Amino acid sequence: PPDVEELGRSTWTFLHSVAAMYPEHPTDDQQQELKTFMVIFSKIYPCWFCAKGFQKFMKKNEPKVTNQEEFGRWLCDAHNAVNEKLGKPKFDCNLWKKRWKDGWDD
Ligand code: FAD
Repeated sequence: PPDVEELGRSTWTFLHSVAAMYPEHPTDDQQQELKTFMVIFSKIYPCWFCAKGFQKFMKKNEPKVTNQEEFGRWLCDAHNAVNEKLGKPKFDCNLWKKRWKDGWDD
């Protein structure tokens, strides 16, 4: 079975990169596609207890797909919910774009 930590790091990199590349003005189709993707993702994520937890989060917090900033923040909150569960520090979601898109200042 895949290493849960390595799988997690790679997957967060993938998901936050999806957010970074998501349009600032997505079409209705693009919004629908991202929503559908996230639902399917939460079902096929290859760590079953992680998938269960993520599905539970998604039930209470529908993915926000109206634009890049909304999705990036939603995903950051989702990641923070997992951080909290694992006793990891909370990430400042004001910084999500610096971390995953623009890069740090220096
Ligand atoms: P990661 O949490 O993998 O984060 C990688 C990098 O992302 C960090 O170094 C930081 O730079 C950045 N980052 C951190 N927080 C945020 C944030 N909120 N927003 C944006 N960027 C951020 N593991 C379990 O043991 N149990 C679970 O139930 C579980 N559920 C998971 C559910 C999902 C959907 C995913 C993708 C992973 C899950 N994991 C779970 C794995 C877990 O989240 C971590 O990936 C793993 O523990 C490795 O942690 P890490 O400290 O290396 O950093």
